[in-house]
Amino acid sequence: MRAIIVGAGIGGLSAALCLRRIGWQVCVLEQTDQLGEIGAGIQISPNASRLLGTLGVLDRVGPAAFEPERIEMRLGRSGREVFSIPLREAAMARWGAPYLHLHRADLLAALMGVLREDSPDAVLTGKTVIGYTQEKQKIQADLADGSSVEADILIGADGIHSTIRDQMLGKQPPRFTGNVAWRATVPISSLGELAPPPTACVWVGPGRHAVTYRLRGGALINFVGVVEQQGWETESWTEQGRCEDVLADFSGWHPIITNLIRQADSHYRWALFDRAPLKQWTDGRAALIGDACHPMLPFLAQGAAMAIEDAWVLAESLKASTQPSQALQAYAAARLDRTRKVQAGSLANMRTFHHKHDLAYLPLWLIGKLMPGFIHSRQDWIYGLDLNQSANPQHG
Ligand code: FAD
Repeated sequence: MRAIIVGAGIGGLSAALCLRRIGWQVCVLEQTDQLGEIGAGIQISPNASRLLGTLGVLDRVGPAAFEPERIEMRLGRSGREVFSIPLREAAMARWGAPYLHLHRADLLAALMGVLREDSPDAVLTGKTVIGYTQEKQKIQADLADGSSVEADILIGADGIHSTIRDQMLGKQPPRFTGNVAWRATVPISSLGELAPPPTACVWVGPGRHAVTYRLRGGALINFVGVVEQQGWETESWTEQGRCEDVLADFSGWHPIITNLIRQADSHYRWALFDRAPLKQWTDGRAALIGDACHPMLPFLAQGAAMAIEDAWVLAESLKASTQPSQALQAYAAARLDRTRKVQAGSLANMRTFHHKHDLAYLPLWLIGKLMPGFIHSRQDWIYGLDLNQSANPQHG
């Protein structure tokens, strides 16, 4: 059996590895000529890291991953701790897999490395898919260069502006969430005593928040600063803004944040979009995964994790059935509810992170002091999902 996968992002490459695992041939069609170096980090929570471990991706990432000691919330202006609870040991003990911080380029290179070792010609770059055509027994991807590729199924892993989704459900632009994200990476060596802690740290404040964490074994700091802002709606990993604009957005914030902004060579900005949950992810032999079907705000750090889970469940559904279109429907049915909840949770975190008054964080501060386990337990439904079934997570 053979699958066409449209898009070589985290979702598409994960799908390729999951399908190879069940013995399918894969052809990944990626529009860009080169899988670029994206200068940003990504948090991979235990629900996804356990799958990447089984796929052999974590071994390849090796020491480039960073395991944060704790998960923290701090007030953006004063730096005062709202809560700080263990994460590194807790992730293994409670959810059975590590919580990791990775450079996106390292994760993509590892996914690609494992795939190429197994199927050297699986990924074709410079191939833009403009749509699909299907008959009862097969489906084909139609390419911009006039050629086509045929297979048993087609997976649209082509991101938030998915061409495959547009054909399946009609063209409908994603919605601007009213948030713009600044992103930068800075060598820890240039930060001295103002280096952010070795944690997954969210700094909260009125109408904005920042996230800091370490990459590449701790050598690099990742900064994401999210600001509620109307009127600028460009999505791009490469669009640059000015240092003074980021500083203005975080004016009066703790020196760890303002120093980080000053020390960054480049400040990228990205308008954040999402979609309301879709009811349909499949059309016969075509199915969507990842941001193509459930783009979300990054406020639970789950977009890529959900794409990896999708890839896994899709392959498991295909393994369990001899009818590809039925298997794809079963996949979508298994995923709709969970991804809808994660989309909603991501949106809800915007309120939690952007309170107007510091006093609004008092209840969380109390919970962090009196019942730190409660904060862990709030993540169980996300991090504790064991699709692999081979790990042994302990809840409660
Ligand atoms: P994409 O990464 O968008 O990949 C789609 C691929 O398809 C691209 O390579 C594209 O070139 C290709 N493509 C598109 N159209 C075509 C076409 N017509 N033909 C051929 N190829 C095509 N998630 C987490 O889990 N943890 C985090 O910490 C986290 N932090 C984030 C921080 C920020 C600021 C943002 C914006 C997002 C964050 N996310 C995070 C979300 C995560 O980045 C996305 O959910 C994830 O990358 C989606 O992967 P994907 O493969 O579905 O889509």
